[in-house]
Amino acid sequence: MTLDRTAFFIDGTWAAPASSDTLQVVSPHTEEVVATVPEGSAADIDAAVVAARRAFDEGPWPRMSPEERIEVMANFSMLYAGKLAEMADLITIEMGSPTSFANLAQAPAPWMMLETFLNIARAFPWEETRPASLGGDVIVRRESVGVVAAIPPWNVPQFTTISKVAPALLAGCTVVLKPAPETPLDTYLMAELLQEAGVPAGVVNIVAAGREVGEHLVAHPGIDKVAFTGSTAAGRKIAAVCGEQLKRVSLELGGKSAAIVLDDADLAATMEGLKFTALMNSGQACVAQTRILASRQNYDAVVDALAETVSGMTVGDPMDPATEVGPLVAQRQQERVEKYIALGQEEGARVVVGGNGMPEGIDRGWYVRPTVFADVDNRMRIAQEEIFGPVLSVIPFDDLDDAIRIANDSEYGLAGTVWTADAEAGLDVARRVRTGTYGVNTYTMDFAAPFGGYKASGLGREFGPEGLAQYTELKSIYPSAPAV
Ligand code: NAD
Repeated sequence: MTLDRTAFFIDGTWAAPASSDTLQVVSPHTEEVVATVPEGSAADIDAAVVAARRAFDEGPWPRMSPEERIEVMANFSMLYAGKLAEMADLITIEMGSPTSFANLAQAPAPWMMLETFLNIARAFPWEETRPASLGGDVIVRRESVGVVAAIPPWNVPQFTTISKVAPALLAGCTVVLKPAPETPLDTYLMAELLQEAGVPAGVVNIVAAGREVGEHLVAHPGIDKVAFTGSTAAGRKIAAVCGEQLKRVSLELGGKSAAIVLDDADLAATMEGLKFTALMNSGQACVAQTRILASRQNYDAVVDALAETVSGMTVGDPMDPATEVGPLVAQRQQERVEKYIALGQEEGARVVVGGNGMPEGIDRGWYVRPTVFADVDNRMRIAQEEIFGPVLSVIPFDDLDDAIRIANDSEYGLAGTVWTADAEAGLDVARRVRTGTYGVNTYTMDFAAPFGGYKASGLGREFGPEGLAQYTELKSIYPSAPAV
């Protein structure tokens, strides 16, 4: 079966592209082309925005009741549930996510997100009546924000797409989705499911393209709100354009999260936890715990345990269920990570596992060796900059206050963890670290609770009622009262 596509999903149909340009989807494992799809141009984006604008200004979707939209989206969720394995495979094929992670997080998590957003929408205060301060009542409504430009990255493509499309649609918005050029395939399957579920024409429009076309979409006057996940550098540019145009914007950006290992932590359990939270998706995760903080007296024990754990991880074919670390998304990413590994050595950090060069037994594909650096100072660039690959830095701390100071000494503030036998002490640490999410002896995201970043990790929150609220405008109505 070919994965090639020749059209875009615009206005409820498979529309011919404006140009003959194509995107090649290349397997990160074999370096071979696995699919060709059209590459969107500004003209395709214009057509998609016109369709979304018409569907918002004149179509049925924003005028349906929340309950009616919930019914259609529940249908979508049910259809999505039937395609989890296919969705996971597509994502592994296009960006190399290990199949174990794809079948845990890349496809099932977006579906759980859908189900959670359905429950949130059922309980959401779309319209409420409050006692007015001047007497009588005031009606507060939460209305659709309008036409949404949704721009996800390639690392968790459905996760970051459904986190925008689900709340946007439940709130009555229409959407132009621009998937990353590396990962268009999953969105074709999603489009088929949306169509089958009965989402009206023009409510979701999808044009895969690169950065420049993304910029055109962000600046387009037909867009009311931009929902972006990606790098902090791109987020800053997008925020500037939206600021100038006073467009609503939400940004989920980079991270450099710290895992604080307290001396009383069960080291074996901590290493099992870090294997996932630091190296999930081959280290290509915004919430990855890439700075491991250990006390000076416990430092060598933590470095040794981490070295043993990381060197024992299975690296290889992402389609193999045993694989824990697969290839990186692209050659560009492989080169970027290798540059950081060389930089860490120049900065004086010590490689205890990994280092540059292909993993043993692998001679093609965009692999890097999972790498652990010891003797890292938090001011080094490898400790401050997001590497986005399987590279960890172990940083010593003097005492708890020092650990929290180091954790907070970052331009980012997305996530963090603490590992300890004392749950109360863990909660105390959680309250002191300035990040949008925090885990004690674990890291997870809960779709019922807000997710997002402090500082340069973003603006706004996804998930929870707060994530749905981002797709609404507030309106206060003062009902007519008898003249006094
Ligand atoms: P990226 O910023 O290069 O690209 C992300 C998306 O934005 C792509 O679709 C790209 O084509 C588009 N784009 C880039 N510049 C743009 C611009 N100026 N205007 C409009 N569109 C633009 O990021 P990436 O390399 O694809 O993804 C990795 C980054 O995403 C990492 O920094 C990671 O931390 C971040 N991320 C954050 C979260 C989160 O929830 N906070 C989740 C996943 C990934």
